[in-house]
Amino acid sequence: MAEVHGLWPAGKGSLAEVRKPCIRPACRACASGQKHPAFILSIKEGGRRRCLHVPREMVPVLQQAIRNGRRIEQLLSRTAGELLQRYRQARDRGGSRRSGGE
Ligand SMILES: [Zn+2]
Repeated sequence: MAEVHGLWPAGKGSLAEVRKPCIRPACRACASGQKHPAFILSIKEGGRRRCLHVPREMVPVLQQAIRNGRRIEQLLSRTAGELLQRYRQARDRGGSRRSGGE
């Protein structure tokens, strides 16, 4: 699986941009309703959803990791199909000598 080597770091989750108010008094961004953009990573841990705050500089890293994770999932689906295909081919080759095979 040489293809997977280039796909690290990889992760699974979803990144969302939210707008949060701050605690500063008389903040212009908050008063205007603009608030402050923040990124949240939503992940599943043991069937439970968790939301984690993401520092701005980590956003591109996580976006790439999530893309890599999806790519790896696609590759894994393909290898599962290939395993089955290889098994069938080997079985059919071996079975051609038998009479009345399945
Ligand atoms: Zn504010």
